[in-house]
Amino acid sequence: MDAEALSAVLLTIEDCRSWDAHAQLARTVELERIAHSLGDELLAARARLLQINMRMRCGDVAAAAEQIWQVHQWAVEHDARQLLARTHLVWSAIHLHLGDAEQGLEHAVLAVELLDDDSTEHMHVWHRTKLADALYFADDMDAARVRYAQAEEMALRLGSPALLSLLNNYAYVEASIGNQDRAEEVANRMQRLSDEWNMPLEPAFIDTIGSIQVAGGHFAAAEETMRLCLERHAEGRWDDANDMAQYLVTLAQAQRGLGKYAEAQANLDKARQQCVERDLGESLVRMHQEQAELYAAQGDFAAAFAAHKTFFEFYHQQQSLQREARARTRQAMFETAEARQEAERFREQARRDPLTGLHNRRYVDERLPHLIETDPALTVALVDLDHFKQINDQLSHDVGDQVLVRVAQVLSREVTAACPDGFVARMGGEEFLVVFPSTPVRRAAAQLDGIRRAIRSQHWSPITHHLPVTVSIGVAGLGDVANPAQAPLLSTADSRLYAAKHGGRDCVVSGTGLRDRIEQVPAA
Ligand code: GH3
Ligand code: MG
Ligand code: MG
Repeated sequence: MDAEALSAVLLTIEDCRSWDAHAQLARTVELERIAHSLGDELLAARARLLQINMRMRCGDVAAAAEQIWQVHQWAVEHDARQLLARTHLVWSAIHLHLGDAEQGLEHAVLAVELLDDDSTEHMHVWHRTKLADALYFADDMDAARVRYAQAEEMALRLGSPALLSLLNNYAYVEASIGNQDRAEEVANRMQRLSDEWNMPLEPAFIDTIGSIQVAGGHFAAAEETMRLCLERHAEGRWDDANDMAQYLVTLAQAQRGLGKYAEAQANLDKARQQCVERDLGESLVRMHQEQAELYAAQGDFAAAFAAHKTFFEFYHQQQSLQREARARTRQAMFETAEARQEAERFREQARRDPLTGLHNRRYVDERLPHLIETDPALTVALVDLDHFKQINDQLSHDVGDQVLVRVAQVLSREVTAACPDGFVARMGGEEFLVVFPSTPVRRAAAQLDGIRRAIRSQHWSPITHHLPVTVSIGVAGLGDVANPAQAPLLSTADSRLYAAKHGGRDCVVSGTGLRDRIEQVPAA
């Protein structure tokens, strides 16, 4: 499989709503492996995001929360806009799972804001739908309706199959807030469009219709709907085998409404068996609830009460399992966030000199090459303390350290004042590098001479008593070197520093000859 074919395969999974998450998880793991073997990081990141989505759909939200940072970071760093838009959609789902409607909404908004002409038709419709869902979770049903309507209008115009999913969610949301008329209206629209477009509804959508019919007391229609739902489920190409228990409960509800108690009981028994075999906690709760209703409908209130007690027990058990799962997800998110901060701190630390807090040579090696490539007016200078050995020898190493810290402070302050984009680094020992972007050598040399004077005129005596503290500075600009690279630039600065030392110290040398010396004040 080449990159183009892989991208196309990924796209069909990305832009498709009906997934068997368990099967797709294994598939996307394999697709990521192929992407790596092709050396294509973007395809690998897309495959990774799909896995995360599948993990979430399989119920392992903690794993999803742990892994999404990485994809998110990659998308940001590589400016992968479509991937980032899809990432925010998954983030939104994770937050909604955690019951954090506000964060869920924030990410859903970003998932829509990042849409552009490169986004697929599915993304345009689906991201708007998820924004509407998020608004519903955030208790803003009016805004949600506006978004559903926008998404619907767009989907109709584009002829997008995502329209059916959209209407399913819309109908479900209206039903769950008890807005029966609207729920029926939207469900009817979904049914009509499915007929008109000759696109059969998936079982989960049919279940939405069936549940709405039950709620509206249209039991005969609901029974028929749910029979169709189960038939379609049996085709096996739509959804998870685990979903059947839910459909059986909805069918039992319809049959209870029709007074077909024996049939309802038979379907509930089937549902219970499914739940036990497949360990379906949530479906089991609904099953017991319907069992209580079914006994009550037949006038057996003792049995109804017992069933209700069982329902209540399972309900609480399920609640606490959900709380635990949420805690695990939060913990996973927290730990990854913390690990990332830790890595960032470590990265930053590794680029700092512990004594002075200045940047170090590693930082210079990382930043300078890019500056050299992009800034023809770049100037650098090596700053070395004069007779520093004397301070160490005559006073102490500790005093030497204090001097280094103080010099570093003065350098930092003065460089920032002279050139806000500039920086100082400690290259080792008592030698510092000053970098002035977009500053011709002559101007930099004049500024550096000011810095030299600032250092010598510090109030040193409380630290060094009679010993003066001065620096010699060698300056080099990119114009001074034949080959614009770090090594020749630094070595030119170094030979000018050497000239400054030989010229008597406490001075700035910015050219090949002493003629270019800005100023030399003999050491006291
Ligand atoms: P010059 O004017 O020619 O530069 O003479 P100098 O004495 O400054 O240069 P030299 O290279 O002979 O000595 C540098 C000294 O800096 C030697 C080393 O012990 C000392 N040094 C290097 N790093 C540190 C440090 O972190 N703390 C202290 N206190 N001293 C250091
Ligand atoms: Mg020195
Ligand atoms: Mg030195």
